[in-house]
Parts: sequence; structure tokens; C-alpha cells
Amino acid sequence: MEKDSSRYKRLREEMVRLQIESRGVKDSNVLSAMRKVPRHLFVSEALMDQAYGDFPLPIGEQQTISQPYIVAEMTQALELCKEDRVLEIGTGSGYQAAILAELAYRVYTIERLYPLYINARNLFDRLHYYNIVTKYSDGTCGWEDESPFDAIIVTAGAPEIPLNLINQLVIGGRMVIPVGDQYVQDLIKLRRDENGILKTSLGGCRFVKLVGEHGWREK
Ligand code: SAH
Repeated sequence: MEKDSSRYKRLREEMVRLQIESRGVKDSNVLSAMRKVPRHLFVSEALMDQAYGDFPLPIGEQQTISQPYIVAEMTQALELCKEDRVLEIGTGSGYQAAILAELAYRVYTIERLYPLYINARNLFDRLHYYNIVTKYSDGTCGWEDESPFDAIIVTAGAPEIPLNLINQLVIGGRMVIPVGDQYVQDLIKLRRDENGILKTSLGGCRFVKLVGEHGWREK
């Protein structure tokens, strides 16, 4: 396997300082995870040198790995602690799942495109992320058998918040999901408590489409 050379370590350090800390992400556990996970191994070899840039990158199948800052911001919003079980919808490259795996007890991640699913699965094994459980399926239905979750993160843009996912959150659970049309979305954070749902907006963002039964319909 490619070594996590001191050059990549330096690029990662810079990424955290210039793109993430400077924009207000303060959670020290999130910052440590972003310093640790070798993001360049989650993209193809041709793109490794760009892996720490301030932008998303293609990962094949017309999908993208999110910009580092967005990954950090969404992760911070989940308010994870070491005992938490987290559901991710949209495994993609596996990078976000690896960040979550550094902070939570176990990560359940679902991907609907087989080549991305199998690629991420193999990478988790190679990098010894034994607390990540993967599934090849439509994530908009959630993962009933393993629910409820302490946190749910959706890393693709939804037309609206799938209610069935809220039902898979514990009371006190947090969810982060981009909601909007196919060009621009609002990053929504919500918390489920005894009295209902508390919703806040974290700002604008742009994600690929969440395609499935409770998302955008396949054409
Ligand atoms: N978290 C990823 C981001 C990947 S982009 C990363 O860190 O790289 C979003 C991913 O969501 C794509 O791989 C896309 O195929 C997947 N996706 C879209 N709709 C989905 C669905 N209904 N269920 C599971 N995955 C879905």
C-alpha cells in the first residue's frame, strides 16, 4: 500500500489549519480525525496530489468525495461520542465513513452503486477500519434491523427529509442532510427529542443526488 508519507501528513495539517479551523470548526476530536485519516487513499492514484485541496473530487460513477470542510462541518454537527452508533447514507469513497469511525463506536454505511460499495469495502479492510459495517442497497430506507441510531448523516442531496429516517433515530439523536433541488441544497441539522424535531440550517451546499425510494426517483 502507498505509504502515508510525511508530505501527505504536511498537506493534511495545512488542510486542517487553512480550510477547516480557520472557518470555525472547533471540535478538537473532529480536527484530530481530519488530521489522521489519509484522504489521498480514498481517491484514484491520478488525483492523490489534489486530495487535500479545498474542493470535491470525482470518485467514478459520476459521484464525488466531498470537500474537506464540508466533511468536517457535517461531522461536527453530529456531536458524536465514543459510544455512538452512526448511520451514513452514501458511502461513496468511504472517506466520510472513516472520519466517523475515528469518533464513534460503530459506523453503518450504505451505498447504492456496486463499484463504489465494493471499492470502499476493500479499502476499509486494508486500512483496518473494523468498526465500519457496509451495505449495498438503497439507503433512503435506512437500516431498520440496526436502528435506532444515535446519529444519521446523508451525504447526497434529498428533495425532502425522509420521515422514515427520522424514525430510525433515538430520542436525542442528530441527523445532518442536504435538502433542496438538484443544483443547490440547504444543509439541515435536526435533533429528535421527546417533543418532536428541532431543525436548524447550516447553510448552502451542493451534493450529488440522493436516488431512491424516499429520494429522487431514478429516470
Ligand atoms: N460520503 C461520501 C460522499 C459520496 S457522494 C464520501 O465521503 O466520499 C454521495 C454518494 O451517495 C454516491 O456514492 C451515491 O452513489 C450515493 N447515493 C446516492 N443515493 C443513494 C441511496 N439512495 N442509497 C445509498 N447511497 C446513495
